[in-house]
Amino acid sequence: MKRVDRRLTPILATAAILVISASGCERDRGPERVVDLVDAFAGARVSREVDVIDFGDPDSKLFLGSGWAINNGKGGAGVRTWGVGEQSELMFFRLRREDLILTFHCASFAFGHDRVQRVSFLVNGHPVKVVKLRNGPQEVSVEVPAAVLRSGENFVTMEYAESRNRDVRFSKKAEDRAVAFSMLHARPKVVVNEALPSVEIAASRFFIPLGTRVDFLIDSVDHGEFSADDLSIIGADRARLLVSSQVGDARESVAGEINGERGRFTIPVSGDSEAPVRLSLAAVGPRSPCKGPCGIVLTGPVVTSRASDANAAEPVADSAIEERFRLKQSNVVIYLIDALRADHLGCYGYHRPTSPRIDRFAKEAVLFERAQAQTSWTRPSVASVFTGLMPQVHQVNDEEDALSDGVMTIAEYLLAAGYQTGGFISNSNAGPKVGFGQGFEVFRHVGPRGEAVRSEVINDAAENWLDALEEDRPFFLWIHAVDPHAPYMPPDDLRAEFAPTVDDPELGSIPRVMNLTLHPETMSEQTIADLVSLYDAEIAANDRTFGALIDGLRSRGLYDDTLIILLSDHGEEFYDHGGWTHGKTLYAEQLDIPLIIRYPRSKEGRRLPQIVQHVDILPTVLEAVGLPEPNDIEGIGLQRLLTVEGRESWVDRAFSSLDLRGRTGTSVMDGRWKMIRFHLRGAGNLPMLFDKEADREELSDLIAVLPDRAASLMALDRRFEAGLPSAFVAPVIDTAADEELHNALKALGYVQ
Ligand SMILES: [Zn+2]
Repeated sequence: MKRVDRRLTPILATAAILVISASGCERDRGPERVVDLVDAFAGARVSREVDVIDFGDPDSKLFLGSGWAINNGKGGAGVRTWGVGEQSELMFFRLRREDLILTFHCASFAFGHDRVQRVSFLVNGHPVKVVKLRNGPQEVSVEVPAAVLRSGENFVTMEYAESRNRDVRFSKKAEDRAVAFSMLHARPKVVVNEALPSVEIAASRFFIPLGTRVDFLIDSVDHGEFSADDLSIIGADRARLLVSSQVGDARESVAGEINGERGRFTIPVSGDSEAPVRLSLAAVGPRSPCKGPCGIVLTGPVVTSRASDANAAEPVADSAIEERFRLKQSNVVIYLIDALRADHLGCYGYHRPTSPRIDRFAKEAVLFERAQAQTSWTRPSVASVFTGLMPQVHQVNDEEDALSDGVMTIAEYLLAAGYQTGGFISNSNAGPKVGFGQGFEVFRHVGPRGEAVRSEVINDAAENWLDALEEDRPFFLWIHAVDPHAPYMPPDDLRAEFAPTVDDPELGSIPRVMNLTLHPETMSEQTIADLVSLYDAEIAANDRTFGALIDGLRSRGLYDDTLIILLSDHGEEFYDHGGWTHGKTLYAEQLDIPLIIRYPRSKEGRRLPQIVQHVDILPTVLEAVGLPEPNDIEGIGLQRLLTVEGRESWVDRAFSSLDLRGRTGTSVMDGRWKMIRFHLRGAGNLPMLFDKEADREELSDLIAVLPDRAASLMALDRRFEAGLPSAFVAPVIDTAADEELHNALKALGYVQ
């Protein structure tokens, strides 16, 4: 997928954003400074939800990025602007994220009778449609799902299969023409909100149409307040005023919102006496059509603040302001340790010192004590981490299932937001061949021929990538390490420390572990203890490299600017319920996973007992970097758990499922209770019920004692399944036909 070129200079250069400085402000002036926003309106930037772009109108240049032959007409109806070269870009502003229909009036360049122009439309870097255009005027409708839209500026890229070569004979001045555009209409798929009037200013008030945002830049707001004498609504039943502010490089913060009509109101605005503050007022309306002008009238809007002690700031050049207010987002690192059960880490209460570095990391981070895997094997679990979707929705369940191109992954969201994206992995089950590379500029299976490698080798690859990054753009680094995954063959020093009495050097090898699975009668208590010791040594090895990566981020000065998430895709069984490895059941040892999140600059550790799950990772990442949470996923951002209100409204519930090689089942965790229902060969559909408070390891089935409780959890499960959105279609891959993939999976014990 091509990256969207975000350097749309024509738009930035013409952005009418001005510094409102308190003119003549001096040291001994009174303590209060008032900026009248009606007076300041001339310097405000007004962004309206674009509903029409007329390419014949010279003002349409505001919306055009690179790849256009601008100024080729004298204006007037039907005038077109040519897209030239390989691609053209345009920008449009939307406040609301809702499904949109973009209708383009366009015509292909006449390449010849038998040739059609193929145009790929991308929105914020996400492909949304490919069309074939004939020569001659025609209409193309492109449906843009809300999930790919951003609240604010959005970028459309048109990629052309053909453009007219420069040396064709028509004219020496001819450009590389591809497609001519005359009109673009953008309409919500559901709502028809007719033409938006412009912002109107009267003596002491102004009108903000629904779908419009007005940005004021104010040079200092120390202990500031935004207030107005009155807020009234015109032309609509309901409307909201969203007030947000942004200081310097910090993320935009929501100052408050007013719902419906109000008399005098005041909203505190966080600010800074040193740096300019951008105050944004946005009018958001109901999802129903309104006739005539509709929007919000504000009477007497002012910003009041303490006068700055310093002399008034010099007016700043436009370009410098844009630079300062460019959204500076945190870097994101997600480190996944495959097959790591939570209860084998020190910070989750384990008695062996397997995890000194993870424990130290957790002291500055949020540790989720009851995080749940969405399922018990790699591919569907990682798919849920990547997409925020349940396995029943992304449909990556069995060994032949790949991730659909139609899903939106964390990497795709972040790439579209301007991130540099890199993934370094060592488990082919979640690799490029099964669709997991979506959104990554670099996605590498580290190791030859798809084989698994030790985590320090992944670190090397990742650190080389970090060193080659552009400094002024944030990055997303995904690491998938597999040390604790079978085979359990730890490095010598850790084997000596954790498993000194294990004499058989091959005990942890794949053939031996597979043999245990097939012939449990060959297993003894000693074998279990020995394998656990080897597994623990592998965890310690991965802990060491996780620590090394943290050190690497620190030494590069990146640690404090980075959101870091440590987690696993599922646990690992050591005969806890009569089996081995994972992907077999939905019991605690396969589903209870570590999840530790360090927010940038955090110095304090915190432990949260709420039930959270894999699907919550994607919205957590997006909210942490200031991107909106998609509304069509099952996950919920976890930052709200850092507030009292967020914890009070949280529902402690997780749903997991398995559908692998005929082993199917579902489980529900609801508060202290967990219900598991397998559909195993001959085992019937009898559910099991566990009390996680009294029986964390799920060894005492309470179904006979508490049948009503089990029944209510089964009903919950049914309601959950019924409420899921329609599923994606997972492309089928032929694992057996791909020798490299087959061998890689065999080496991990997935296939025979
Ligand atoms: Zn795994």
